[in-house]
Amino acid sequence: MDKKPLRPNAKRSKGGRGFKNASFIVLIMLIGLISYAAYRQPSTQQEIPITTAVQQANDGQYKKITVTGDELQITKKNASQPTLKAYKEDGTSLKDEGLNYNKVQVSIKPASGTGAVIGSLAINLIPVLLIGGLLYFMLKSAQGQGNQALSFGKSRARLYGNEKDKVSFKSVAGQAEAKQDLQEVVEFLKFPKKFSSVGARIPKGVLLVGPPGTGKTMLARAVAGEAGVPFFSISGSEFVEMFVGVGASRVRDLFAKAKKNAPCIIFVDEIDAVGRRRGSGMGGGHDEREQTLNQILVEMDGFEQGQNVIVLAATNRADVLDPALLRPGRFDRRVNIGLPDRPDRQAILEVHFHDKPMASEVDLDALAAKTAGSSGADLANIANESAIIAARNNHTQISQADVTEAFERVAIGPERKSKVMNDHEKELTAYHEAGHAIVGHVLPDSDVVHKVTIIPRGGTGGVTWFIPPEDKSYHNILEYKDILARMLGGRIAEEVVYGKERVTTGAGNDLQKAAELARDMVINQGMGTKLRDQVFHVEEGMMIERMVHEREYSDDTAKVIDQEVEALITEAATRARAVIKHNLKYLEALKDKLLEKETVDAEEVHALFTGSHLPKEAALY
Ligand code: ADP
Repeated sequence: MDKKPLRPNAKRSKGGRGFKNASFIVLIMLIGLISYAAYRQPSTQQEIPITTAVQQANDGQYKKITVTGDELQITKKNASQPTLKAYKEDGTSLKDEGLNYNKVQVSIKPASGTGAVIGSLAINLIPVLLIGGLLYFMLKSAQGQGNQALSFGKSRARLYGNEKDKVSFKSVAGQAEAKQDLQEVVEFLKFPKKFSSVGARIPKGVLLVGPPGTGKTMLARAVAGEAGVPFFSISGSEFVEMFVGVGASRVRDLFAKAKKNAPCIIFVDEIDAVGRRRGSGMGGGHDEREQTLNQILVEMDGFEQGQNVIVLAATNRADVLDPALLRPGRFDRRVNIGLPDRPDRQAILEVHFHDKPMASEVDLDALAAKTAGSSGADLANIANESAIIAARNNHTQISQADVTEAFERVAIGPERKSKVMNDHEKELTAYHEAGHAIVGHVLPDSDVVHKVTIIPRGGTGGVTWFIPPEDKSYHNILEYKDILARMLGGRIAEEVVYGKERVTTGAGNDLQKAAELARDMVINQGMGTKLRDQVFHVEEGMMIERMVHEREYSDDTAKVIDQEVEALITEAATRARAVIKHNLKYLEALKDKLLEKETVDAEEVHALFTGSHLPKEAALY
């Protein structure tokens, strides 16, 4: 998303450049002055009185005298260059001074005087120029800042559309439905008459809804590219500044610019930054945001038919948008853009690996299978990381190992091989990871183990990696409970092996994630025991710089929610404990293998765990 040709501080940096220019010119002037001074340095010729010069000339000691104005340059008999100089009186001739012209060769040059004139001019002018120059640049940079203040209300939208490499629908892999929906927008822009002639109202706004990195910006640019119209891009958050009224004036400016360039597309990224529901007092609902939002609505209503400006807006939270934005005549069309499914992931990977040399062994199909839940941006990142890793390893082609490393790096952060762990810590990590693995392996509704490692990665000591065999859109309670138990598997393994009081902080992250999942189950998914099929709304927002949660349930319910969460966690811990205690042999086997090899992959884990079983105490059905 490197599309920021005109950053807000562009003006400022121009001011800075002006200042740099000024100092550069001052420097040049100084250098000139110094070299002039050097040039003016007294020459090494010795000055003698005119009478001595005449006398010595008459004595036949000189070869030549060159007269320029009043100055005599004297070359002695045995010298090749003048070594002496003398000055005659103004207006007198050498004959008047008593020179015998037969004794020496005399040549007379007209006195130019330009050198002296330039010299004195320069000396007088340089300070004036210096001061003048400084004043000029000071004024100019001050003016620059003034301009900046004046341009505050100008929108900072970036205009695209003239680049050579226009984005088209072909550059966006997958997303067939979204493209189909947007194809219509392309038609509106290309052939407005076709629609207006039958009385159809061309939509003014289209909302692109989807998680970050799924290609919303790309699709919007592709619409502009396909229709061959300019594309103004701005982020919702760029409207809002500290000063009230700026956002609204930026909106006015943006729409005015767009109308001048019609037909065109305005793309507002992160519209939720300004378009949140008004009046709740939450979500930073201050006047400025509301004014900006109102102005957007006013501008959209103000489009006349046939004006042909279409606003595309992107958000990943359509639920928080103000209903006024979604009314007919505004953003009344919605295009949902989801995370890519497996074939789409493969297509995206192919697009991004397309221009990179790859070994024939590289299996993008398998990579697509492993990357469930990744966005297009994540996949683009994997492709780029693969190329970087290949280059770092001095490969001429990207190998399968490079791709695997890139995938793991993007998914859980780079390996930190340099982090030194002592033997006890290593053993503890091995038990911890083996705990996750055995619990996940044994429980029937958990995903399969993909890889276990005790090499620190990202912020963790080790990683046990589970990958679902196929893309899943929904999870049931049994699956969630198994996930909870395997999350606690690490902590419980430590407890079973070392004792209750010797568990470590290594599980901090697991516990936090488990708590989040359990709370989500109870609050948002209606998966509690007492609170089954009920959800509890908590609105999060910022209020005077503070995060606040506004809940719509009583204190009594809050207490029950806490009890439900606790029950889920306790149950998960009990199940994990039962699995580990009944399968200690397998836990030990994987721990030993981890200490030996540090990373154990899926096949080996499955081989080591052959014979492990689900104890009655851990079974849910
Ligand atoms: P969003 O606006 O939804 O956050 P972007 O459009 O900025 O996402 O996408 C970020 C990057 O991800 C793009 O520059 C592109 O490299 C990659 N990408 C996302 N989706 C796709 C796709 N369907 N096909 C190809 N590349 C994609």
